[in-house]
Amino acid sequence: MIYHYCDRAFAAGQKVVGVIDWAHRFGNMQQHTGEHIFTGLAHNIYGADNVGFHLSDNTVTLDLNIELSEEQVRRIERTANLVIAKDFPVKAYYPDEATLAATDYRSKKEIDGAIRLVEIEGVDICACCAPHVNTTGQVGMLKVISFGKYKGGTRVYILCGLRALDDYNHKMSLLAQSYQKLNCPEENLPDRIAGIMEENKQLKYRISQIKGDILMNQIAGYPSDLSDVTIFTEDLDAKTMRDGVNALVEKHDGLCAIFSGNDEDGYNFVIGSSTRDCKAIATGLRELLGAKGGGSNQMAQGSVDATRSAIERTL
Ligand SMILES: [Zn+2]
Repeated sequence: MIYHYCDRAFAAGQKVVGVIDWAHRFGNMQQHTGEHIFTGLAHNIYGADNVGFHLSDNTVTLDLNIELSEEQVRRIERTANLVIAKDFPVKAYYPDEATLAATDYRSKKEIDGAIRLVEIEGVDICACCAPHVNTTGQVGMLKVISFGKYKGGTRVYILCGLRALDDYNHKMSLLAQSYQKLNCPEENLPDRIAGIMEENKQLKYRISQIKGDILMNQIAGYPSDLSDVTIFTEDLDAKTMRDGVNALVEKHDGLCAIFSGNDEDGYNFVIGSSTRDCKAIATGLRELLGAKGGGSNQMAQGSVDATRSAIERTL
């Protein structure tokens, strides 16, 4: 059943002109013929069977029933491009019953009625009803975009012809933007990114050290006759918070707490005490404010999605 979508209704018997969206059709023919070549080679070289194929405007996937290594995928990809360069004919025909019976062809299911075979000699022979290009050269090129394990086999993403060219241009543009932004030659990009990540890690560590020092100075400034101390702050890591609470507990005998965060995103907290039951207080925060976390009688930690004033009231 073939549906033709129209921009307006027309009467029975009226003459109409239909036009194929050739750029779109040709793109699909390139992808589909490329899939025949890739699958045929995977079948011939590694004995793989195609168990799934999907073609959309943006992606082409084919599923093979065996796991393929990087090296195997690259070998098929390279051979596929040699098949394209050799410009073999892509033949489509309806064989008679005797010929069909004597032919070894790929087919996903048992088919009733006339079988149409699509053959690229020495590469692939498959039962298929879709449109293909006339010769392998018209596929232009075949590029494996990515592949990975899928249901015990391999899913391969490919692009052919002009869509492969578009994808190449898109990736070149991403690459150019990246090395221009990072101000380095293309070849140095991976090292440059690794360097920035390492620098970032060291800066984060340094910032956390400085924040720890500021917190300890703040703690040293509290008069020791204070019993309960609660500090609200931002961006402290868990270790700095624990160190801070330990320092507070040494000087103050009530409830010592540090909350790090803000009213919008909530707070992480560490509470400690030499006299109060922190586990019970954490349970109270959970029951009254929906806090998460827990700990021992001496120290508890967790997170709570509540405002500073709600936390202070609850404490
Ligand atoms: Zn086909």
